[in-house]
Amino acid sequence: MADMIESDSDNSFDVIVVGGGGTGLAAAIEARQIGRTVVLLEKNPTLGGTTGLSVGSITATNTPQQLAAGIFDSPRDHFDDMPGFAGALASRDNVELRRLLTDNVPETFRWLQSLGLVFYGPSPEPPHRKPRMHTVLPNSRAYIHVLEKYAKKQGVVIHESVRVMELIREDGRVVGVRTGIGAARREFRARGGVVLASGDFSANGQLKTRFMAPEVAKVDPINPTSEGDGQAMGLDVGGKVLNGDVSLGPEIRFLPPTKETFVRKLPPNRGLARFMAWSMDHMPAWLLRPFVMSFVTTWLAPSLRLFDEGAVLVNINGQHFADEVDAPALALPNQPEKIGYILLDKTMAQKFSSWPYFISTAPGIAYAYLADYRRNRKDVYHAARSLKRLARKLDMDPTVLEESIQKHNGAIDNGATKARPKFETPPFVALGPVKSSIIIADGGLAVNRDLQVLGDNDLPVPGLYAAGSTGQGGLLLEGHGHHLGWAFTSGRIAGRHAAYEATSADLPKSA
Ligand SMILES: Cc1cc2nc3c(=O)[nH]c(=O)nc-3n(C[C@H](O)[C@H](O)[C@H](O)COP(=O)(O)OP(=O)(O)OC[C@H]3O[C@@H](n4cnc5c(N)ncnc54)[C@H](O)[C@@H]3O)c2cc1C
Repeated sequence: MADMIESDSDNSFDVIVVGGGGTGLAAAIEARQIGRTVVLLEKNPTLGGTTGLSVGSITATNTPQQLAAGIFDSPRDHFDDMPGFAGALASRDNVELRRLLTDNVPETFRWLQSLGLVFYGPSPEPPHRKPRMHTVLPNSRAYIHVLEKYAKKQGVVIHESVRVMELIREDGRVVGVRTGIGAARREFRARGGVVLASGDFSANGQLKTRFMAPEVAKVDPINPTSEGDGQAMGLDVGGKVLNGDVSLGPEIRFLPPTKETFVRKLPPNRGLARFMAWSMDHMPAWLLRPFVMSFVTTWLAPSLRLFDEGAVLVNINGQHFADEVDAPALALPNQPEKIGYILLDKTMAQKFSSWPYFISTAPGIAYAYLADYRRNRKDVYHAARSLKRLARKLDMDPTVLEESIQKHNGAIDNGATKARPKFETPPFVALGPVKSSIIIADGGLAVNRDLQVLGDNDLPVPGLYAAGSTGQGGLLLEGHGHHLGWAFTSGRIAGRHAAYEATSADLPKSA
């Protein structure tokens, strides 16, 4: 039935890009700039993907900002520092792709700047030996705003609300894609290549079950539309997913405010971004800290050290449900509404007010303490003089909360749980709601240096490319700013090679 659908000239392009996040936009622009016709297909009503939800940090060396700050850095040192973030996983890295990233991300960064994006940085992030992290201003929507506008201006054809369902393969070569279902079904043909840039699979139950531990698979994603379509399509044509068990999270994070913060609502305007960059260098700390706290709302993950120092995790009913020092992120998804609160007594609250006892990291100010939450994240900060009052504030049954604390302290006394400070002295603070989420699933299709998808015997599947999260190829991207660095860098390389496959004989007259 599907084969009876004829493609027409509106549906024939040199390059097809699947997905309109950072990777897809970079791929489409690159292919178009070397004179090929390009269509970008996005399943959601608007472009953006996880790229548009991110904080927006990108890590690169030899940036104009590094040079202006007198920091002399190199891709080689960046390459050498990255395993420090991967810890025990380091031996599973794709070293060839790490080299591709660290060698090319400086140029990617300058390209992004040349299109009008404005960055703040570089910020330190050990174990990087030099400050390399840069954050886009005013927020990550600027990436999408700037790249979408530029892509359209260059003549990339963009279709939104069009979901790619499968690849079309003829004589072993990928020659196009089928989109939609039923009457909306359509074919698009590619003379050059198809680039899968459809993000990660943190929202795909089947792929999570296949590649991750069962208890990890049931944890919700941050982006519910990261459904791993590209990984699934790649697997269908003989590709393989590498490091499918690796993910950022499950991690307990503060829920972002229900209303967009002032900073997230700011229009991605270049003048404003420049003013912000200037202000961040010149603002006094008391003014900068509230600003940054509203900037990084999706980022804030309470430090696990809170639990070592005695903080107690309860569910929305005030029940204590897990040993906080034994993978609490895996227990929280089994609780009502999957939501919890972290309780601190006075001693703990005092402790988490200064270095080295921070509540969370926060790019831009490095570390956020209890006072930062009290002043700037009132939506997740609750304090009361007694447990009863705290329970009422959180809509919990006071008796249940008091019993939870008694049992928790009892378990410490009788050695049933690991020794840590008991929860005792009022006043008390509750931080939350918190939720356990998979931030990003790092399993991507196996690819080579040209971002061709590798199939049987590690040979490229002709006509098929994958980049960004979909083409992560076993590359480990721990630390901040490496995922976006890979998204834009690999997207551009994939777009270039997919374009080269459309030979000059195919070039449309207008190109
Ligand atoms: C809260 C949060 C904060 C983050 N902050 C940072 C950060 O500061 N720095 C950093 O480096 N990384 C960060 N990351 C990770 C980073 O954002 C992602 O790794 C990166 O954006 C992935 O880009 P991508 O283009 O591969 O995927 P995406 O940006 O998700 O784009 C994929 C696109 O493909 C579309 N798509 C999917 N399937 C189909 C289909 N079948 N047909 C058509 N379209 C389809 C999707 O709708 C989506 O628009 C963060 C992640 C999260 C969740």
